[in-house]
Amino acid sequence: MSDCIFCRIVQGEIPAKEVARSPSAVAFHDLNPQAPVHVLVVPVTHFDNAAATDSDEAEPILAATLRLAVQVARQLGLAESGYRLVMNVGAQGGQSVAHLHVHLLGGRQMSWPPG
Ligand code: 5GP
Ligand code: ZN
Repeated sequence: MSDCIFCRIVQGEIPAKEVARSPSAVAFHDLNPQAPVHVLVVPVTHFDNAAATDSDEAEPILAATLRLAVQVARQLGLAESGYRLVMNVGAQGGQSVAHLHVHLLGGRQMSWPPG
């Protein structure tokens, strides 16, 4: 989608600090980090959010996106300490960019409940 920021980052049309890439997903640093490590992991294929992935087509893409998040967490040294993976869905979920993304947050103690 040409008007989607994350599609444009995936295509290299908007610069981002890329951390890793697989055939199905791309990981890059969040522009406005909320933790010492804050990486976004997005599928190459556009889905608006997790609610739009209830399909056979989406299932392997979701798995590949989560897999890249876990690999990046390990790559950035978070495997031992732990980290948080978050997907915001829709308005009350706090989603501001309508291209599915997993937030990988780490490098500090996370609190619960989330805001
Ligand atoms: P959401 O609120 O949709 O769960 O998360 C969207 C995230 O995308 C936010 O954390 C925001 O800082 C990040 N973001 C928005 N625009 C850009 C951008 O152009 N580049 C990067 N790297 N991150 C962005
Ligand atoms: Zn998109």
